[in-house]
Amino acid sequence: MTIDFKKGEGLVPAIIQNAATGKVLMLGYMNEEAFQQTQTTGLVTFFSRSKNRLWTKGESSGNTLQVVKIELDCDQDTLLILVNPTGPACHRNTETCFDVEGDADSYHQRSFQNFSPTEKALQFISKLEQTIKERRRNPIEGSYTNFLFDKGLNKMAQKVGEEAVEVVIDAVAGKTDTMKGEAADLIFHLLVLLEASGLSLAEVVQVLESRHKPRE
Ligand code: AMP
Ligand code: ZN
Ligand code: ZN
Ligand code: ZN
Repeated sequence: MTIDFKKGEGLVPAIIQNAATGKVLMLGYMNEEAFQQTQTTGLVTFFSRSKNRLWTKGESSGNTLQVVKIELDCDQDTLLILVNPTGPACHRNTETCFDVEGDADSYHQRSFQNFSPTEKALQFISKLEQTIKERRRNPIEGSYTNFLFDKGLNKMAQKVGEEAVEVVIDAVAGKTDTMKGEAADLIFHLLVLLEASGLSLAEVVQVLESRHKPRE
């Protein structure tokens, strides 16, 4: 992909579009470094003209933009980036920077606050997957996730087994309250084990989807 950075004095505009809904979420600028970082990390990174530095969208809010596809316009001076947002793209906590008040298109105007509890839960799991990746890339002092990565695959696998057994014991005993915590432990450790094994949640869900046969 050859991008014409010269026209904009080292910066090209990047239009950010929701890959699932087609909604335009925001616009930012990228220099060559920001573009490269976006490609290697899979998280949209701009060059912020106000901060005057690289800015990974979501670096403080956690509302990152996961890259699905990058396209160039006809004369290679503008990027169109299709993303999977892990939360509201706008700092006002709305889905997009371009909401117009009173817009009748309710599906596209629906902000992330209006997502169902299940949709929110899935968005959080996606955020958690990203955080685990980020810890692995950039270890933090005292992080339990980093402790697991340091210990290695066997330790992670053992934890998944332990937590699964704890879930089973609580379920059989009808202890639904502690079962919740054990199920949370199980999901977290499974995400860590998947990451360590080079597998993504999306690949696992693809298998579920391929097995799914809806009945009329
Ligand atoms: P975030 O990258 O989401 O952690 O936000 C960090 C900071 O970037 C915020 O405090 C805002 O100043 C700015 N910011 C976040 N989202 C946007 C946006 N969509 N458009 C412009 N500035 C933003
Ligand atoms: Zn152009
Ligand atoms: Zn905004
Ligand atoms: Zn446990």
